[in-house]
Formats: sequence, C-alpha cells, structure tokens
Amino acid sequence: MTALSSGQALRMAQHALFGSDTAQIDAELLLSAALGATRAGLYAWPERQLTPAERGRFEALLERRILGEPVAYLLEEREFWTLRLRVTPAVLIPRPETELLVETALALAAPKGAEALRVADLGTGSGAIALSLASERPHWQVLATDQSAAALQVASDNAVRLGIRNVGFRQGSWCEALPEGQLDLILSNPPYIAPGDEHLGQGDLRFEPASALVAAEQGLADLQAICNAAPRHLAPGGWMLLEHGFEQGPAVRQLLAEAGFSGVRTLADLNELPRVTLGCLEIQGD
Ligand code: GLN
Repeated sequence: MTALSSGQALRMAQHALFGSDTAQIDAELLLSAALGATRAGLYAWPERQLTPAERGRFEALLERRILGEPVAYLLEEREFWTLRLRVTPAVLIPRPETELLVETALALAAPKGAEALRVADLGTGSGAIALSLASERPHWQVLATDQSAAALQVASDNAVRLGIRNVGFRQGSWCEALPEGQLDLILSNPPYIAPGDEHLGQGDLRFEPASALVAAEQGLADLQAICNAAPRHLAPGGWMLLEHGFEQGPAVRQLLAEAGFSGVRTLADLNELPRVTLGCLEIQGD
C-alpha cells in the first residue's frame, strides 16, 4: 500500500463524494473520526501519514458514505443545541430547525422564572429536545417519551453521558405515556411526512426510521392524535408546541384550535419556513 497523507486523504474523499453539497465537511468529519483528530488538526498537519489502521477505518467510512449512509450514523453522533448526542439508526437525526422548538419553549417559560415547570417531549428519539431543555433549566422536571424501546435506550444513554439528571423516560405512544392533567408544557417533533413523499427516497431520510418520519393523513395523523389527547394532560394555562412540515401550518393551527387551544400561532425556522405552531390551554373562566 502506498503512503497516504492526511491532506491527500482529504482530497481523495472530497473527490469521491463529488456531487454532494456537503462533500467537504463530510470528508473532514470522516477523516477526523478515523484519525481521532479535530477538523482543525487536519489542516494544521496535512502531511501527517495515515497508519494502515487509520487508513482502513477511513476507507471503510468513506465507502459507506458513498453508498449514502448519513454521516451522523457513521460517526454515531450529532450536535444539537449545546449538546453532542449519540445517535443510531433507531432514532431520527436531530435537525437544526428543531432547535426552534427549544428556543420557543425557553422564551415562553421565561416569565415563570425559577418555577419548577413540568415538561414532556413526546417521541423524543435521541432525546434532543428533552435534554436541551433539561440542560438549560436544571430546575424543570422533564419527561421524555417514545414508543420505541430502542430509541428510549439511546435517549437515556445520552442523559447519562451528559450528566443530565432532571429527565425521566417512559415508553408509550404520544400522550399514553403521560400522567393526567399536570404538565405546563408539551412539545413534540412527531412524524409529519406523507406516505409516498418523494423526499423519503432521498438523502439521509432513506436510512432513518420510517416510524419517526411518516404519518398517515398527508402526514397529519400523529399531529392530530397529539392535539386531541394533550388537553387532558396539561395544567390550565399550559402550552403545546409542535413541529410540522412547512406546508402544514394552516392544518396544524386548525387542529390546535379545534382541540381548544388559544393564542394559536406559527413561527418560522432558520430557513424562514413555517415550522412550529403553538397554543395555550386557557385557564377556565378567563
Ligand atoms: N424535518 C424532517 C425532514 O423533513 C422530518 C422530521 C419529522 O417528520 N418530524 O427531513
């Protein structure tokens, strides 16, 4: 085997991944994982020679990436909010636009200051939303639910790795795993893609669990199930925040209004697409 330097390996990978919009960053991430180096380190020492073991690891990762496997699954990690989360093919890969749910929840709760709010993240997957909120507000009691035992294992493992103690985990579908009438805030990033949508055959989505992506009724079935059941589990004045597809704003606003929520509105994500809809359960007699 001829010698290969880190700089050459990077160029080889970028060339092999040509055509992907993320070729450069993917090449950097895979090479830094194979070498146990930082991305900056790759550029600081481009003449570093790869050992046969490093080269073997790098080529194996690159081959899997060429076949389409998401980088997050190859590296078994993804950053979300301020956290580095472990991810496996049992969970959806956390997306930057989902940080809008976290940001909105923190802003809504700001007037409550040091109150120990009770919060639930339904369909937590890797735990991204629940763990972000719990790390920002250590005095909150956060409950993370998922129907999938494998996903809950990933989420609770993330809590342990990150030393986050104020999150509990429960298995169950949507509101079925919740206690009655006690929460201040329910959040969810449920599946919302319509069956047969062309995006399911593209990019990372091909490798992610369909149960985390696809919902019946044009992608609205799970959003509807959550809206219908949530009021029973919220304290008066409690909030619900839902992520949804960029064309689903009007439908989700209607679902929330029909379920009795008020102050219903939709917020745009970092790509300026309608992404999160929220509503408040009015205090009786107001
Ligand atoms: N936002 C994801 C996507 O469109 C879908 C995640 C979901 O269905 N909740 O790639």
